[in-house]
Amino acid sequence: MKIFIYGIGKKEQPVAEKWAKEHKVEIAFTDQELNTQTVVLAKGYDAISFQQMAAVHDEKMYQIMAENNIRLLSTRSAGIDGLNKDFLKKYQIAACNVPVYSPRAIAEHALTLTMMLLRQIPRLLQREQQQDFTLDGLIGREIHELTVGVVGTGHIGLVTAELFKALGATVIAYDKYPKNDVDTILTYQTSLEEVAQKADILTLHTPYLPENHHLIDAALLKKMKPDALLINTARGPLVDTSALIQALQTGEIAGAGLDTLEDEMMFVNKTKAEQEKQNPYIEELLALDNVVVSPHIAFYTLQASKILMESSLNSLFALYTNGSNDALIQL
Ligand code: NAD
Repeated sequence: MKIFIYGIGKKEQPVAEKWAKEHKVEIAFTDQELNTQTVVLAKGYDAISFQQMAAVHDEKMYQIMAENNIRLLSTRSAGIDGLNKDFLKKYQIAACNVPVYSPRAIAEHALTLTMMLLRQIPRLLQREQQQDFTLDGLIGREIHELTVGVVGTGHIGLVTAELFKALGATVIAYDKYPKNDVDTILTYQTSLEEVAQKADILTLHTPYLPENHHLIDAALLKKMKPDALLINTARGPLVDTSALIQALQTGEIAGAGLDTLEDEMMFVNKTKAEQEKQNPYIEELLALDNVVVSPHIAFYTLQASKILMESSLNSLFALYTNGSNDALIQL
């Protein structure tokens, strides 16, 4: 078997090489993204593993794969919104994701963004640029006095709830499909609105689906407390970013920690010079001293990237040898 790997990082190369040796599989890799131009690099290979922010929604990419008899595709992510199911079906390409890798990586990042905002670190860092060390505006809040609202209590949301609970916070939650046996960790509310009204910290952990587009809109932001924080480590389009910027500028809410942002592919993993167009929201967000933006790094830990690479290659290997695996995306 031959697998071509896109978007590989320096730390992932030895993981992939070790796996290939152990499984007697031929691999080649590039740090480039998978798209209609680069897909030809995989000519002669049986399968593709990729990881990137940019979605692969261009039909031509799937067509070129099929023409070259590359019928196995794996995204090294939990989210599958970067793939086009219609084209996978049309060109008979079996695709898989990595449904669970390290929920802890994302949960810890949500916690990090929260703690940074609770202790006014973005404001502090901005002031330090001017050697301004005054205390006014830097008063913090302690987590055990606060209520955390978790939206989506799947793999990541539940671990996030556990971390906040362990620090003494009160944890409330909303999920379309509440879990049983979690009442020692959190208390479900009957609606997203109820959670938004009660939470000091609202943290998002739902997938991006068309029905979840702008789940957090202007109306919901108005329901939040004026000293509340919004944390988004899930997907950018869950939040109406223009409405969020307005809410932050007018003091409707107190801060935001954003690991994911609408149109983030314009800047994620790119230097300023590499950005062809500027993201429409980034300048206004970075000007605010109550906002932290991180370039979609919640998943990006040593542990998680190793699991992602190994699971992706294992899935492709199982698909190639047995014709199925647990992570196969249903079309
Ligand atoms: P999961 O499928 O285990 O859980 C998602 C939960 O959200 C489910 O319980 C589902 O019922 C609930 N849900 C869906 N729509 C909802 C809605 N409108 N209101 C309330 N609940 C709703 O998924 P997971 O593994 O916990 O991952 C969650 C999301 O985190 C992923 O879909 C992905 O978008 C994001 N993610 C981000 C990063 C990152 O690096 N920032 C990394 C991995 C995953």
